[in-house]
Amino acid sequence: TPIIRMDGLGKAFTGSQGTVRALEDISLEIMPGEIFGIIGLSGAGKSTLVRCMNYLEVPTEGEVYYDGKPLSEMQDAELRKVRQSMGMIFQQFNLLAQRTVLGNICFPMEIAGTPREEAKARARELLKLVGLEDRENAYPAQLSGGQKQRVAIARAIATNPKVLLCDEATSALDPNTTKAILQLLKEINQSMGITVVIITHEMAVIEAVCDRVAIIDKSHIAEIGEVSRVFAEP
Ligand code: ADP
Ligand code: ADP
Repeated sequence: TPIIRMDGLGKAFTGSQGTVRALEDISLEIMPGEIFGIIGLSGAGKSTLVRCMNYLEVPTEGEVYYDGKPLSEMQDAELRKVRQSMGMIFQQFNLLAQRTVLGNICFPMEIAGTPREEAKARARELLKLVGLEDRENAYPAQLSGGQKQRVAIARAIATNPKVLLCDEATSALDPNTTKAILQLLKEINQSMGITVVIITHEMAVIEAVCDRVAIIDKSHIAEIGEVSRVFAEP
């Protein structure tokens, strides 16, 4: 069973300026354990597409299935569980400036009701995993971009999600830092079995780590398949 399936999905935004059709007729399957890439130009619809995966955006057409179950038929409590099972990281990291590194990683566990000492212990394990065990008392402003993204990754996986959604997660980073972050995502994918979805506008990011890729062009899927096939020279 695909962990995420979209079937005939569409999303239109209607406002005072009229209607923007951000996504049209999107059908795809993401299998458990794979690293799936979504590539396209700015404005193609990539962010909206990942936001539909956990219903941060509710599609206006079609259906999203999580582990075979349609999201549109879920009650709030079940939808909340689905959301908890999908961690997210972003281009701008979105760390809490007033909290230390350890405090940031503990935050989602606090919301989930994990006892404080247990949360701290887990946060320290995660810091080791992302290579920042000596920075637990630092504040985000004291960290480099790559370090901030490592903290964001630790925070995103703190509650044991099945899926990690990465929205332009390396776009604010230099090439070497990008490589290191992609390597970390691959390690997390392999050692923890977390399915990883990577949104990017850079082909090199897809080629570095993805198994399969969907090319999004003007709200549609232009191509989808194995990276080696989709990006093969003609
Ligand atoms: P990408 O991530 O590929 O840059 P987006 O998904 O952010 O693309 O945007 C796709 C299109 O949908 C753009 O034209 C964008 O302006 C529009 N869009 C995205 N979110 C909204 C929104 N909340 N309201 C209106 N239009 C939106
Ligand atoms: P990105 O391309 O990385 O998604 P944007 O600047 O396009 O960044 O979007 C930032 C936020 O604004 C998103 O939450 C998106 O849904 C929303 N947004 C994007 N375009 C529009 C729009 N035309 N009208 C209203 N909200 C929008």
